[in-house]
Amino acid sequence: MYFRNLVVGVNTLVPLKNGKLTRYINFDNAATTPPFINVMNAINSFAPWYSSIHRGTGYKSVFSTEIYESSREKVLNFVGADSKLDTVIYVRNTTEAINKLSNRLCKDDKCVVLSTFMEHHSNDLPWRGKFKVDYIETDDCGRLLLDDLEGKLKKYDGKVKLVAVTGASNVTGYINPYYEIAKLAHKYGAFILVDGAQLIPHRKFDMKSHSDDEHIDFIAFSGHKMYAPFGVGALIGPKRIFEKGEPDLKGGGTVKVVSHDFVIWEDPPSKEEAGTPNLMGVVALIAAIETLQNIGMDKIDEYERILLKYANHILSQFNDVELYCPNISNKVAIIPFNIKGIYHGKVAEILSDYFAIAVRSGCFCAQPYIQRLLRIDKEKILKIAKNPDSKRPGMVRLSFGLYNTCDEIDILARAIRFIIANKSYFLSN
Ligand code: PMP
Repeated sequence: MYFRNLVVGVNTLVPLKNGKLTRYINFDNAATTPPFINVMNAINSFAPWYSSIHRGTGYKSVFSTEIYESSREKVLNFVGADSKLDTVIYVRNTTEAINKLSNRLCKDDKCVVLSTFMEHHSNDLPWRGKFKVDYIETDDCGRLLLDDLEGKLKKYDGKVKLVAVTGASNVTGYINPYYEIAKLAHKYGAFILVDGAQLIPHRKFDMKSHSDDEHIDFIAFSGHKMYAPFGVGALIGPKRIFEKGEPDLKGGGTVKVVSHDFVIWEDPPSKEEAGTPNLMGVVALIAAIETLQNIGMDKIDEYERILLKYANHILSQFNDVELYCPNISNKVAIIPFNIKGIYHGKVAEILSDYFAIAVRSGCFCAQPYIQRLLRIDKEKILKIAKNPDSKRPGMVRLSFGLYNTCDEIDILARAIRFIIANKSYFLSN
């Protein structure tokens, strides 16, 4: 299995600190993946046909509209949605998708949303202020506690409107048992939203399950984490949820009739896609989806597990490396770690400066989860927040994509060895 040739820019040379050009190694795919070559080709081939959609009467406008509207079926099919009942709303990214859902779900602040302690801020902050929000606990390793979910569903006695849970964590890579969560949520009359940002590019996902009560109600994901460009993503869920009320963004494309004193809104999804839509983004997203489907999500999963296992094995050989989730079963290929005694930001800087290895360090927009994993209490968090010069707690994160290789992980191993061997030098410089 070798998927390297499918992605743009895998042989880019970048300068090291000493000026020497070296092949760039990207282990920061959880942030953003490079685009597929197929995606760039699709953008180029479509460019001559590119025109305004929904409004124009010219041939290219009609063709562009047809491409845009017919794409929805492909997205529904990709996530196993119900093409009769569900709708695809195109958005900029997962963050926008979740914010949009938070504006449409319920206008009553007595409604409860259950989020979890392992969420990206984008699946936590949008719920705050609009709903009563509570958080499902994680165990010491950062895995979700289903008993706590059931306890909270019982406690709120039918008031939970939604369980908003990540499909896979962007910090630990843990995959949540979303069908089991769905079953529990439905039992207590709640919907489930799966934040699919880290799941959709790596594992086959199906909103339908083998049993009806385990189906997934909403899924959100971003194109730029699945080998398409920035600026396109999707929110998928039951059409009826978006039929009532006003859209969050209002303007061109959202209305059927406007008079000076009344408005008749369009049907969803158009009602939820204010302004001129991002047609090129959608063309790119569909090309990425088709490429993933042609490779086969199971093959991608299988290959990325090889990378995960290999990297985890290598890192676990170093006494000075602290691993936070040594159990690698049921997770996507993400490994957070620290090197004892060296600040995570410094490790990331050395990896880039001396080895051209790109990683991310810090809290990965999941501060409550990191605080739990690192066992940092509220008092300490407040103390750190008040002091702008204090070092922020965090980790170094490796996140692999389908084009990474074990050879690249060997270079990482050399880099870690080098950092540990020269720890005292780096601590004083
Ligand atoms: N959820 C998760 C789990 C993520 O990893 C991210 C991005 N790191 C987001 C949501 C937000 O994605 P975006 O920035 O594309 O909106």
